[in-house]
Amino acid sequence: MDLVLDSGAAKKMDGARKNSTLICAPIMADTVDQMMDLMGRAKSSQADLVEVRLDSLKSFSPLPDLSTLIQHSPLPTLFTYRPTWEGGMYNGDENSRLDALRLAIELGADYIDVELKAIHKFNSCLPGNNHGNCQVIVSSHNYHNTPSVEELGDLVARIQASGADIVKIATTALDITDVARIFEITVHSQVPIIAMVMGEKGLMSRILCPKFGAYLTFGTLEAGKVSAPGQPTIQDLLDLYNFRQLGPDTRIFGIIGNPVSHSKSPLLYNEAFKSAGFNGVFVHLLVDDVATFFHTYSSLDFAGFSCTIPHKEAALEICDDVDPIAKSIGAVNCIIRRNTDGKLFGCNTDYVGAISAIEDGLRGSHCAPLASSPLAGKLFVVIGAGGAGKALAYGAKEKGARVVIANRTYARAKEVADVIGGQALSFAELSNFHPEKDMILANTTSIGMQPKVDETPVAKEALQYYSLVFDAVYTPKITRLLREAEECGSKIVTGVEMFIGQAYEQYEKFTGLPAPKELFKKIMEKY
Ligand code: NAP
Repeated sequence: MDLVLDSGAAKKMDGARKNSTLICAPIMADTVDQMMDLMGRAKSSQADLVEVRLDSLKSFSPLPDLSTLIQHSPLPTLFTYRPTWEGGMYNGDENSRLDALRLAIELGADYIDVELKAIHKFNSCLPGNNHGNCQVIVSSHNYHNTPSVEELGDLVARIQASGADIVKIATTALDITDVARIFEITVHSQVPIIAMVMGEKGLMSRILCPKFGAYLTFGTLEAGKVSAPGQPTIQDLLDLYNFRQLGPDTRIFGIIGNPVSHSKSPLLYNEAFKSAGFNGVFVHLLVDDVATFFHTYSSLDFAGFSCTIPHKEAALEICDDVDPIAKSIGAVNCIIRRNTDGKLFGCNTDYVGAISAIEDGLRGSHCAPLASSPLAGKLFVVIGAGGAGKALAYGAKEKGARVVIANRTYARAKEVADVIGGQALSFAELSNFHPEKDMILANTTSIGMQPKVDETPVAKEALQYYSLVFDAVYTPKITRLLREAEECGSKIVTGVEMFIGQAYEQYEKFTGLPAPKELFKKIMEKY
């Protein structure tokens, strides 16, 4: 879709951009003075325009307040006066509300937003339907779900027929696959369109919309200070997702998980894509069902995926082809869509990432790798029997360690132990399990992960028997388990080191380029 941007905002586009999608900062405040301050911050944050939410003002005198806001705004203005019946905060007289929007046009607003349910009444009192240079966005918000493509198409047609310059549709994500319908509507729209899916499961609709030709997206000045659920910050759009560089041929990568917002993968890959000039973007994908996700997003555009809790085993089932090691481990943490035939290829990079980090920890990072592994002959206790647990157990066994697996669900521990030829333990047995000294401990459960940072999988007294303790959890970097292990005199290896190790391999598989190892380390040092 070619967009013709004739607004002040469009004229501010700089040459470095690869798309014309604007970033709009919602401005919500009690007073006009506070709004002016926020408008200044929006300009410094590199937003293209501001959406002034008149319904957030505690007191509002239309003529002086609109004049001040329009005259002093450093950016083009969009005025929205959202009533409670459309999810806003205004619950006063409808005529006064529409009069204020008409006045905004007269005073030189660049855009106004009028709800579809109110547009006919609004138009009927606009002499000659003349709104000069102001563009009218006609909007529809659905806070319950995302309708079918047919229903959405019908909605776009009705909005277009109302005389809208720009169509706006916001729906609610019950599942990440809802976003596909909004992308379809966006890419086929004959009119400029703003289309997004609200909520965490709809996040990618707000980030990837330039690829599909949307007119604008909303970005907040501060995390959590949103005017609708799921809005990212402007800073994340620009710095994390390289928003200005996204285009129709940008390839989409992401981390599939639930929960997933804690993952640092987007930080790592997007920065590396940027430094290599690779045309890709990496996003968080909050997925409930892996099979439905891949069935919906089957195009070559969706090119590569990291896979985390709790989907690594299900991911193995949906791949068309699986690497033999991943098959032996029984878990896939990396999926590539082959660009020749669109088939999904699954592999496991957790194994290499974790085991090499633990080997480095045992050797001391400055020593040259020896031919034999320092894990050979050691008693290696793995806590957890999920995707990461299986990878660690398999890897340790491959390196000649004697492996013990403890898991909350004992049957799963037993299953893994039987496959690799190890011993299974129940969780209750773990704290009193110390047949020898100088053992290795690896936590691969999510115990201790943010926000439950006070939790730990093993009593501190038991840690004295371990010469090295590893934790796959990397948010926080130093978990309670690692802190207590250090206090007991054990060496520690963090989940960050595993994370970097497994990411090297994934990056190379995603891009075909060598991983920028120093850059990865530098990025992760900050966390
Ligand atoms: P997964 O396949 O879903 O497995 C989760 C494992 O944790 C299962 O063994 C589960 O036991 C156990 N578990 C979960 N909650 C528990 C609780 N409250 N108490 C006791 N056990 C619990 O997940 P995964 O992909 O292996 O990931 C596991 C952890 O490793 C996550 O925190 C993830 O972020 C981390 N990880 C880190 C990296 C890295 O690069 N640093 C890479 C991969 C994974 P049951 O069998 O009883 O359910």
